[in-house]
Amino acid sequence: MHALTILKGKDFWTARRRLFAGVSPGRRPGRLPGGHIADRADLKKAITLCRDCLPKFSSAKAGYVTKRNLPFVSGRCDGCGHYTERGHLLVHHTLANLM
Ligand SMILES: [Zn+2]
Repeated sequence: MHALTILKGKDFWTARRRLFAGVSPGRRPGRLPGGHIADRADLKKAITLCRDCLPKFSSAKAGYVTKRNLPFVSGRCDGCGHYTERGHLLVHHTLANLM
Protein backbone atom coordinates (compact mmCIF):
# COMPACT_ATOMS: atom_id res chain seq x y z
CA MET A 1 0.00 0.00 0.00
CA HIS A 2 1.43 3.35 -1.05
CA ALA A 3 0.93 6.50 0.95
CA LEU A 4 -0.99 9.25 -0.76
CA THR A 5 1.32 12.06 -1.86
CA ILE A 6 -0.12 15.50 -2.45
CA LEU A 7 2.07 17.71 -4.59
CA LYS A 8 1.75 21.46 -4.62
CA GLY A 9 2.63 23.61 -7.58
CA LYS A 10 5.62 25.92 -7.70
CA ASP A 11 3.39 28.97 -7.29
CA PHE A 12 1.97 27.55 -4.03
CA TRP A 13 5.32 27.54 -2.21
CA THR A 14 5.89 31.22 -1.63
CA ALA A 15 8.70 32.34 0.69
CA ARG A 16 6.17 32.88 3.48
CA ARG A 17 4.66 29.39 3.11
CA ARG A 18 8.11 27.75 3.02
CA LEU A 19 9.06 29.59 6.20
CA PHE A 20 5.92 28.62 8.13
CA ALA A 21 5.88 25.02 6.87
CA GLY A 22 8.47 24.12 9.49
CA VAL A 23 6.62 25.71 12.40
CA SER A 24 5.13 23.22 14.82
CA PRO A 25 1.33 23.48 14.92
CA GLY A 26 1.43 23.16 18.69
CA ARG A 27 -1.29 21.77 20.86
CA ARG A 28 -4.52 20.75 19.12
CA PRO A 29 -7.63 22.68 20.18
CA GLY A 30 -9.43 20.81 22.93
CA ARG A 31 -6.34 18.82 23.91
CA LEU A 32 -5.23 19.09 27.53
CA PRO A 33 -1.77 20.67 28.04
CA GLY A 34 -0.55 17.76 30.18
CA GLY A 35 -1.14 15.24 27.40
CA HIS A 36 0.57 17.44 24.83
CA ILE A 37 3.64 17.87 27.03
CA ALA A 38 3.69 14.16 27.95
CA ASP A 39 3.75 13.30 24.24
CA ARG A 40 6.68 15.67 23.67
CA ALA A 41 8.47 14.18 26.70
CA ASP A 42 7.97 10.63 25.39
CA LEU A 43 9.56 11.65 22.08
CA LYS A 44 12.38 13.47 23.97
CA LYS A 45 11.53 16.73 22.22
CA ALA A 46 12.48 20.08 23.65
CA ILE A 47 9.79 21.71 25.79
CA THR A 48 9.33 25.44 26.22
CA LEU A 49 7.41 26.53 29.29
CA CYS A 50 6.54 29.94 30.67
CA ARG A 51 7.10 30.92 34.29
CA ASP A 52 3.55 29.93 35.29
CA CYS A 53 3.59 26.52 33.57
CA LEU A 54 7.10 25.48 34.66
CA PRO A 55 6.16 24.31 38.20
CA LYS A 56 3.32 22.18 36.80
CA PHE A 57 5.73 19.92 34.86
CA SER A 58 7.82 17.54 36.98
CA SER A 59 10.95 17.81 34.85
CA ALA A 60 13.17 15.65 37.09
CA LYS A 61 10.69 12.78 36.97
CA ALA A 62 10.59 12.94 33.15
CA GLY A 63 14.38 13.18 32.92
CA TYR A 64 14.42 16.78 31.70
CA VAL A 65 17.04 19.40 32.52
CA THR A 66 17.42 23.09 31.77
CA LYS A 67 20.34 24.31 29.70
CA ARG A 68 22.53 26.60 31.77
CA ASN A 69 23.85 28.39 28.68
CA LEU A 70 20.27 29.13 27.56
CA PRO A 71 18.60 30.63 30.62
CA PHE A 72 15.67 32.12 28.71
CA VAL A 73 14.15 31.57 25.29
CA SER A 74 11.33 33.44 23.58
CA GLY A 75 8.53 31.56 21.92
CA ARG A 76 5.20 29.89 22.44
CA CYS A 77 4.71 28.06 25.73
CA ASP A 78 3.89 24.37 25.23
CA GLY A 79 1.61 24.48 28.28
CA CYS A 80 -0.67 27.49 27.90
CA GLY A 81 0.15 28.36 24.28
CA HIS A 82 0.89 32.02 24.98
CA TYR A 83 3.93 33.80 23.57
CA THR A 84 6.54 34.39 26.24
CA GLU A 85 9.73 36.47 26.12
CA ARG A 86 11.32 34.66 29.06
CA GLY A 87 10.42 31.02 28.56
CA HIS A 88 12.36 28.12 30.04
CA LEU A 89 13.80 25.59 27.61
CA LEU A 90 13.79 22.02 28.91
CA VAL A 91 15.67 19.28 27.07
CA HIS A 92 16.00 15.57 27.80
CA HIS A 93 19.13 14.79 29.81
CA THR A 94 20.45 12.40 27.14
CA LEU A 95 20.38 15.22 24.57
CA ALA A 96 21.50 18.06 26.83
CA ASN A 97 25.19 17.85 25.92
CA LEU A 98 24.56 17.69 22.17
CA MET A 99 23.19 21.22 21.86
ZN1 LIG B 1 2.55 28.62 29.85
